[in-house]
Amino acid sequence: MSSFLSQQVLVLNRLWQAVNVCTVRRALNLLFQGQAQVVMSATDGSLQTFNFWEWRDFSQQQPHPESIQTVSFKIRIPQVILLLLFDRLPKKEVKFTRHNIFERDKNTCQYCGEQFDRRDLNLDHVIPRDRGGPTSWENVVCSCVECNTRKANRSPQEAGLRLIRKPKRPRWRPFVQINLELPCHDSWKHFLDLAYWNVELGEDTG
Ligand SMILES: [Zn+2]
Repeated sequence: MSSFLSQQVLVLNRLWQAVNVCTVRRALNLLFQGQAQVVMSATDGSLQTFNFWEWRDFSQQQPHPESIQTVSFKIRIPQVILLLLFDRLPKKEVKFTRHNIFERDKNTCQYCGEQFDRRDLNLDHVIPRDRGGPTSWENVVCSCVECNTRKANRSPQEAGLRLIRKPKRPRWRPFVQINLELPCHDSWKHFLDLAYWNVELGEDTG
């Protein structure tokens, strides 16, 4: 049951745009509070919405293995919810966080151009800090351990390294390409037609 509760649910805003993912636990909470409805495709492809009570009834009428047993009833775990009462409107400014720098640089070392696991990437001050290089969008990039070691406390030129692109403040909202490592339900695909979804960066979705 606890593994069900931590599964991912796609969150749509009032315009039916995919804006986030949350856990089943949070989705059920929002549903129960009347802040969200469950979205499900009917067999004919049309979309149906269910409030908490409707969803609870539906869960009894069509039992499904992916259900959660509460004290008095079973409830099926939702895969997509629609927010009713508020929009998760994007923050205007992209926050300057480690996470967003990784997003901007697409987990790619900005010197050798190779993509890495996040844990194998450092943040590098292009102009070293002790030479007055600021900690800013324009002066901080992802770099792999090897490039970072090679660069040491020098400018890229001195180290014989070149940035693959000039770092700058992202103008976009931090839309994130679908992380294919995340299990993605078929039911999400309908809403992911932009192929992008927004994660509130800087905080974990789990
Ligand atoms: Zn590198």
